[in-house]
Amino acid sequence: MQVRNPPDAPQPARCRATTTCPYCGVGCGVAVELEQDQDSVRIVSLSGDVAHPANHGRLCVKGSALAETLSADGRLTMPQVRDGAGVLREVSWETALDLIAARFADLSRTHGGESIAAYLSGQLLTEDYYVANKLFKGFIGTPHLDTNSRLCMASAVVAHKRAFGADAVPCSYEDLERAELVVLVGSNLAWNHPVLFQRLKQARIDNPLLRIVVIDPRVTDSCEIADLYLGLRPGSDARLFNGLLAYMADRGRLDRLYLKAHTQGFDAALKAARREDCSLAAIARDCDVDVERLETFYYWFATQLHVVTLFSQGVNQSTSGTDKGNAIINCHLAGGKLGLPGAGPFSITGQPNAMGGREVGGLANQLAAHMDYETPGARELVGEFWNAPNIPQGPGHKAVELFAAIERGEIQALWIMATNPAVSLPDSTRVRAALAACPLVIVSECMADSDTLAYADVVLPASSWSEKDGTVTNSERCISRQRGLLAPPGEARHDWWQLAEVGKRMGYQAAFGYSGPHAIFREHARLSGFRNVAPRHKAGSKPLAASSIRRLFNIAPLAELDREGYDALRPIQWPVRRGEKGELIGTLRLFEDATFNTPNGRARLVPVTPQLPHQALSDATPLRLNTGRIRDQWHTMTRTARSARLMNHRAEPFVELHPQDAAARGLQDGALAQLAGRDEQGSVRGDYRARVRISHGQRQGEVFIPMHWNDHFASHGRAGALLAGLVDPLSGQPESKHGAVDVMPLPCEWQATLLIAPGVWGGHKDLAGAMAELEGCYWARIPQATLVRCQLAGEGQPDWALWCERHLSVQAGLWAQDVAQGGISAAGFREGRLIWWLKVTAGAARSDRQPNIAWLGECFASDQLSALERRSLLAGRLSGQADVGTMVCACHQVGELTIRQAIQSGDRCVEALGARLACGTRCGSCLPELKRLVEEERSDERTDSLEMA
Ligand code: SF4
Repeated sequence: MQVRNPPDAPQPARCRATTTCPYCGVGCGVAVELEQDQDSVRIVSLSGDVAHPANHGRLCVKGSALAETLSADGRLTMPQVRDGAGVLREVSWETALDLIAARFADLSRTHGGESIAAYLSGQLLTEDYYVANKLFKGFIGTPHLDTNSRLCMASAVVAHKRAFGADAVPCSYEDLERAELVVLVGSNLAWNHPVLFQRLKQARIDNPLLRIVVIDPRVTDSCEIADLYLGLRPGSDARLFNGLLAYMADRGRLDRLYLKAHTQGFDAALKAARREDCSLAAIARDCDVDVERLETFYYWFATQLHVVTLFSQGVNQSTSGTDKGNAIINCHLAGGKLGLPGAGPFSITGQPNAMGGREVGGLANQLAAHMDYETPGARELVGEFWNAPNIPQGPGHKAVELFAAIERGEIQALWIMATNPAVSLPDSTRVRAALAACPLVIVSECMADSDTLAYADVVLPASSWSEKDGTVTNSERCISRQRGLLAPPGEARHDWWQLAEVGKRMGYQAAFGYSGPHAIFREHARLSGFRNVAPRHKAGSKPLAASSIRRLFNIAPLAELDREGYDALRPIQWPVRRGEKGELIGTLRLFEDATFNTPNGRARLVPVTPQLPHQALSDATPLRLNTGRIRDQWHTMTRTARSARLMNHRAEPFVELHPQDAAARGLQDGALAQLAGRDEQGSVRGDYRARVRISHGQRQGEVFIPMHWNDHFASHGRAGALLAGLVDPLSGQPESKHGAVDVMPLPCEWQATLLIAPGVWGGHKDLAGAMAELEGCYWARIPQATLVRCQLAGEGQPDWALWCERHLSVQAGLWAQDVAQGGISAAGFREGRLIWWLKVTAGAARSDRQPNIAWLGECFASDQLSALERRSLLAGRLSGQADVGTMVCACHQVGELTIRQAIQSGDRCVEALGARLACGTRCGSCLPELKRLVEEERSDERTDSLEMA
């Protein structure tokens, strides 16, 4: 309801501000319009920041839906502590913080600082990360501080360090636009970094000579712009790039001068590559790709200087992810394709601040400010800067090892911030057991629907996007302000504040007495420059002072920013220096002088021995499991599930598989399936239940599932439960792209769609409880604007009338039962308002006549239904209303069936579809899907006409 201000009331003031998107590693700038009255500030509109160098005004569908995720409903607003009866009870901040400080002090005394650990997140701001790193490593004295960025890009970090002597991404986004060849390896850019994909797509339009190669086991929407696609065998990337190195050597396509002057290790790297047959036929066989396509890729790469190889989780999430990264970098170094406009290996991070976390030392093997424990003098330097008494001796446990140490009882207290490890880590059932056994689990979180909260002894309500205030660093080393625009709800507080308060309570007032995020940032910037000497390896350069440590990461000039300067900070790429007139100058591209951060200044080529995935296929688990992100969801859905339109693109957990694998298992498109893996003892590992999507883009023998669903949105949607916790021995990154499973039909005797008004059920627990009475074997919960949609399936012959009466708050006002077919349609009303709607169909197959959820949503919103609407309810749609199908365009809510019908009736291109239906005309994230649908329909037409002929 809107309340109109009286005529003489002061009008709300409007102002504009810029901030940064909290989702992926592209790090888009966001412009918001704020309205302020006496009591509150609201975001009234949101768009891309045209002045931000990452996106120049673009936003993808997730970014453009940010304002829809800001409701205070479902937010944590008070600290809570679990009492003796196991119940979380609200307490004051004083109580919660005193308890944590006392328990930490006690554990330090009795078990040593190493019994305490932290597990952080790439969602945190750099300032949060910095304070956490300083508190745990400098003052509590534990090295066991790791982050969920371990799951995302840890392999690329190690590959960078091995090759360049520093975790340094050489390229900028601009290089994609200046390249002649862009190679996407293990990256579905179209879905996971959509704005970067749009920039690349535009670059291809602007430069007809630009070629794009997609290397991925799956045909993804990124193939929309590919000139060449290599659908390689999962895990064979290192073999592919080793083969490329040998090809370049054999064809005289090496940059001998560059290799001689600026690198080392080439001979050993080539020798390692040649240990296997480097004929094109052998490589094509091992990688399972067409030999002509392989040769085309090799020829293009070898003959172009301006090549960018963009790689992501498909490379990193492997037990040999580090080697794969180095195999790619080797080829760039061998051809001198780096440090130039439009050239270089380019690791794209998943999270908005994965790189900011790396800058402060947020990985367990790092110490601080791009210094590791192994860096000579680093412990002393950092200890002196922080005036810290307890710098650990060596690295701590990386994420998967950390939870194993908790399981063994070595870690007695764990502080989790802004992440949901009960869902996101591999072998998540074991992770849950470890959390349950840990004596003290503290969870700082903003959303109530995080599964990890079930294991918390202390819950600390945290501020969220639009409230948090600080900086993030995106994939191109660009530091941007994420600004605090709104007040956090209730008692929610910033993460850095929570950490600093605990530090002060432990007796370290001087070290943690920050006045705000600007003070933390200034200290972070000063540390980056503390005894840091710019690389000088040229003849005549001065030797390094004994107490100095050379780091590429240096933003020392930003330490001079006062509070106003920090608030006004424009995006800037590190390293940062002052120009002659005192201006701040960022760095677009690294290694332009071919000087690297190794002791002799040379880049290192690394010998790579290709390895296949370690999770073994077997008779019981014959299918290779690939996990990944989908276009409209983020991480474990705690934020994106708050936007109804983002829920509709893929509303339920799904499994994509090849038509022949589906046929061999009797699985039909839209049916329900069950996936399971096996552990080392042969026992079943995980139980994932999902809708079948049959896809010709999936290789035979391989399946894909999304990583997002948590226990609040699906009964059995946790992908991590299927994966073994096997990791890359160098990076500790889990092998999340290479599980081993089988897929079988989910036995069920009925399926149902239940729509209920918001508030009828408190949440997923009410749904799960009600399903237990139904012998339910599957549910998915899909919040919408005016209702909650539940997809259900189960066994037996439930007494639906009794069940509705018991669980749906009002009795059925409409009821139709098809006794012969076992189908039921029913609806319940309160004072004329629709409260629930149910349709049950017998059998395992999904009904081919789906209800019109959008129209039913309008019915739920209506105070009083018309006679026609009421009459049409049991059918689930008004007479003549078409089924719109799966949502494709989330912005304009246009479904697949509507789009297919439009194509069939003559709209034969994406532009025509946009003109008629508006699909694809806002954020552009669905354009690859629209193009695919056009191609599919047109190829069906061609097939039909051939058959007719
Ligand atoms: S591409 Fe989308 S999700 Fe990623 S930062 Fe930009 S708007 Fe956010």
